[in-house]
Amino acid sequence: MVVSRCFTMKSLKMFSVQRRGMHLLKDKAYINGEWVKATSNAVYPVQNPADDNVITELPDMDAADAKTAVDAAANTFKTWRDTTAKERSYILRKWFNLCEKHSDDLAAIITAEAGKPLAESKGEIAYGNSFLEWFADTARHINGEIIPSPWPNKQILLTRQPLGVVSVITPWNFPYAMITRKVGALMAAGCTCVIKPSEDTPLSALAAAELAEQAGVPKGVINVITSSRKNAPGVGKVLCEDENVGCISFTGSTFVGKILYGQAAKGIKRVALELGGNAPYIVFPSADIEHALDQAMLAKFRNNGQACIGANRFLIHEAVYDKFVEGFKSRIGKKCILGPGTKEGVTCGPLINKEQAKKVSGLVDDAVSKGAEALIGGKFAKELGDKFYESTLLVNVKPDMNIYNEEIFGPVASCLKISSEEEALKIANSTRSGLAAYVFTKDLGQAFRMSRQLEFGMVAINDGILSAAEPAFGGIKESGIGREGSLHGAEEYTDIKYTLMSALDK
Ligand code: NAP
Repeated sequence: MVVSRCFTMKSLKMFSVQRRGMHLLKDKAYINGEWVKATSNAVYPVQNPADDNVITELPDMDAADAKTAVDAAANTFKTWRDTTAKERSYILRKWFNLCEKHSDDLAAIITAEAGKPLAESKGEIAYGNSFLEWFADTARHINGEIIPSPWPNKQILLTRQPLGVVSVITPWNFPYAMITRKVGALMAAGCTCVIKPSEDTPLSALAAAELAEQAGVPKGVINVITSSRKNAPGVGKVLCEDENVGCISFTGSTFVGKILYGQAAKGIKRVALELGGNAPYIVFPSADIEHALDQAMLAKFRNNGQACIGANRFLIHEAVYDKFVEGFKSRIGKKCILGPGTKEGVTCGPLINKEQAKKVSGLVDDAVSKGAEALIGGKFAKELGDKFYESTLLVNVKPDMNIYNEEIFGPVASCLKISSEEEALKIANSTRSGLAAYVFTKDLGQAFRMSRQLEFGMVAINDGILSAAEPAFGGIKESGIGREGSLHGAEEYTDIKYTLMSALDK
């Protein structure tokens, strides 16, 4: 057996402790309906970010395994594409029901591998399941069109056809929902898939696959390959370039999204890219400030700030700035309880890994060295471990600081004072990211103006949370291409076929 990382005896002993109560925990990958090892027999450890204990080992798969999985998905596509929408809807509904039934088990797995508080993990399962339910319904509404023909005795038909094997590559921050959001949609459309979850969080993907199998999803429709970070580029190349792949559906950083987009271009493959964000959170004087503060806590500290739509830049009007900052500091002090996700009362878990922790602390240190002030937090909570960072409120943030421009992806709120709507728009739009934006105002005209002029794919007026299965989720500019959720989410995985029915008079 090849082990990609060294284990300590302590962490190996934790195997059995961590596994207790997690009935859906798998230690193999899933290809063509079989639970399999890597061809090379290599394995890597999946660790709990709260304490570094090893939860289990998984196959460390490479390009050859990725090819096997793509071939399986391609083979199954030949029959799955011909199932009726009603059959696919029925299977998706069965999968949804099982995921609902096992939601506590699934949540325990997310907390173990991603570190988030159990209540948040349960929230992610409910959110993730809502896509399976939604696409079970949507499967039966992927309609075509009959268009009046410009010629006599001819008929124009547009039908939607599944585009084949979809490569699904997902991040660690919502390890379950990012998968159901894609797989529910592509299955509804009649596609099959190969999923490559993040090295850090493959266990919820495998648990979902186990439940899919129990629900009767045919072998080869869903394949899950697991790999350590060092194998991700090799696996990704196959998932982008193999001629049997019809679409690359990726959620993750803009940096990796660009690499995959480049690889997909070689074969003129369809892409669906959900990439990084840099959300402005704008508060105007007419806003209900208490409400804006409550929502700010959700928009910033949900998943400990590790969310693509997390508020990244708080742009607060000078007339309400002091009140907002004071209320924010007090709420952070009272409501952000740091600790392991399994502990009762904890609201903020660890950051996912050491690199992420280093990135967040580096952004704060850079800002403070250039004149920003941390009103609360601003350092590691070392007593808890090396991935726990205190929930932080930064003021006096200026354009020359890295935090002004970058996606923070951590529990740090950075506040800037603005004096007009124009200034808010100028700062908000001064980024190549365009995922989500938040605006707090009671001025109706201002709400519509901001919705129209903010260069973001999604704008929430007077709310800090906007995700659901029903709306179309997605970004513009460097935040992505395509939409997830809604009917559009399923249509992403179809090609439009034009059929001309001619000579109707012959
Ligand atoms: P990431 O580093 O881009 O990784 C995302 C996925 O891509 C992981 O499975 C990763 O595997 C894999 N990967 C990395 N390099 C690869 C390569 N060369 N070929 C193929 N796959 C490769 O992103 P992350 O750090 O996991 O997630 C955070 C980012 O995701 C943030 O920027 C966030 O904004 C974004 N995000 C966007 C949305 C959205 O809906 N727009 C939602 C959630 C997150 P390994 O992890 O094993 O390296």
